[in-house]
Amino acid sequence: MKKILANDGISAAGKKKLEEKGYTVVTENVAQDALANAINTEGYEALLVRSATTARKELIDACPGLSFIGRGGVGMDNIDVAYAREIGRTVANTPASSSDSVAELVMAHMYTMARHLHDANRKMPVEGAGQFAALKKKYAKGVELGGKTLGVIGIGRIGQATARLALGAGMRVIAFDPYSDLASIKVKIHGMGKLNVPIERVSMKELLAQSDFISLHVPKQANGAAVLGAAELASMKKGSFLVNAARGGVVDETALIAALDSGHLAYAALDVFENEPTPREDLMKHAKISLTPHIGAATLEAQDRIGEELADLIFEHFES
Ligand code: NAD
Repeated sequence: MKKILANDGISAAGKKKLEEKGYTVVTENVAQDALANAINTEGYEALLVRSATTARKELIDACPGLSFIGRGGVGMDNIDVAYAREIGRTVANTPASSSDSVAELVMAHMYTMARHLHDANRKMPVEGAGQFAALKKKYAKGVELGGKTLGVIGIGRIGQATARLALGAGMRVIAFDPYSDLASIKVKIHGMGKLNVPIERVSMKELLAQSDFISLHVPKQANGAAVLGAAELASMKKGSFLVNAARGGVVDETALIAALDSGHLAYAALDVFENEPTPREDLMKHAKISLTPHIGAATLEAQDRIGEELADLIFEHFES
């Protein structure tokens, strides 16, 4: 039966699904420089990767028996996709599996900023006992998300998932996306089925002027340019909040620090950074930034869905 190397791992649910159909799934990590040899010697016909393992032209050329390359997750920058397809290999990813996980992280960051949680979690252990009353006063002016306007830049899969949750939190949601004509989203309400909710589409200028919170859900731009630079940040409402869980570089980091330092923006939350895995120190240490180390997609539920979706893609490739 077919042998699959899941070099960056696969969820137990995905592995089980494949094994139940008779596939052999090996999850032992093979070092990049030993990969071609392992694939050929062991006779692997499918290689599954996440972001750590790369599948470049050299590897693809060296492994004629490898007909399927699967990427668990969204981006495929670590695979020479066009080349692989050109020579008849199948390359697939699982872009939808983690949208809800990223959206929940965005909500977590928005609630965090609204109530100063990132700062309180840093200060309480250090200043805690002696400064309780002072800290209580410092964090007294929190805000609610309910009734606020969320501006979503990029209303694709994750933008829509975020919009769903924000609507549930009582927010008004507006969206800017010049490449999408989406007019409404389906919102599933427990016990009530799915409702069709219209999405208010606005220009970038309107979004910047009206939003209390802005969340970006765009890919890295083809020309590498920031979607929000100094001019856009200056056009945001004074005292507003920004979340970037899209890709490092879609917000200009230098301009963001300036906007926070001047007090124009209240807080920002970042899950992604220009210089991963070594982001700038001044971002890491900034008192007005809520931080996570690129964990948007990293939930157990998303891992399960990714594994199961990869299994389905493999069935489709080998059995149809
Ligand atoms: P998607 O392709 O479904 O949606 C992206 C949307 O952005 C599209 O509708 C597109 O038209 C729009 N867009 C592109 N450029 C734009 C611009 N300049 N202004 C406004 N809209 C623009 O992608 P998705 O699945 O929603 O993912 C969005 C991004 O989230 C991914 O590209 C990825 O970089 C990021 N992501 C991050 C994590 C994480 O761990 N933090 C996980 C998954 C994905």
